[in-house]
Order: sequence, then structure tokens, then C-alpha cells
Amino acid sequence: MIKKTDQEWQSILTPEEFRICRQQGTEPAFSGVYADCKTEGVYRCKCCGAALFESASKYDSGSGWPSFWQPITADDIKENKDTSHGMIRVEVVCSHCDCHLGHVFEDGPQPTGLRYCINSASLTLEPKE
Ligand code: FE
Repeated sequence: MIKKTDQEWQSILTPEEFRICRQQGTEPAFSGVYADCKTEGVYRCKCCGAALFESASKYDSGSGWPSFWQPITADDIKENKDTSHGMIRVEVVCSHCDCHLGHVFEDGPQPTGLRYCINSASLTLEPKE
């Protein structure tokens, strides 16, 4: 598990990335760089670089946020119950560094039926060679 102080995270993240990744923030819909991205590759955790999602599992949900129907492995993602903003949601974070990624909903496509709704600011795309 990677542990850093807020000050250390702030030194490697932009203010917007820090707000989203480390303070459970959300980027405005359709504002993130990966919302409509179709580039093939691996999406890594913005904070620690762990490989979290593949472009092959990305789909167009129409939500305005990058959406995936599965993570690369379940072990890389941790789920937390989130009752903020008057809603009951399931927050997803990077299991390696606790970076806030977004939320998972049960209205995704088959075969999982899940929608991992992720902030672009929490990800770095590593394009396929
Ligand atoms: Fe991470």
C-alpha cells in the first residue's frame, strides 16, 4: 500500500487532480480528456501507476465520464459504501494507493452488467505500442 501525505500528493498532482483523486471530487461531465477517448491501451492509476482498466472494456455510456464494464482484476479495485450527497453509491478506489476513481453502478452492459464510472483525472492512458 502506497502512503503519502497530502503535501506529497499535492507535489505530484495538479490542484484539480488532487481534489478528485485524494478528496473524493468529481470532474464535470464531458469535461475529462478520456470521456470520448477510443485509443487502445491501458488506463493506469493517476497517483501510483497501477494498471486498472483496459480500453477493450471501455464503452460509451453517454454519461460524460469514461465508463468500463470491468477492471483488469478485481484485486486492483476496492469498493467503499458512499452515502455523501444524499445518495447511496459504491465508491471505487485504487487498492494500491486509495486514489478515488469514481463509482460503480449496476446499469452497465453484459457480460458483467456493471458500469465503472471513472474520472478522467484519476487515470493516465498508456497507449498500446
Ligand atoms: Fe493507485
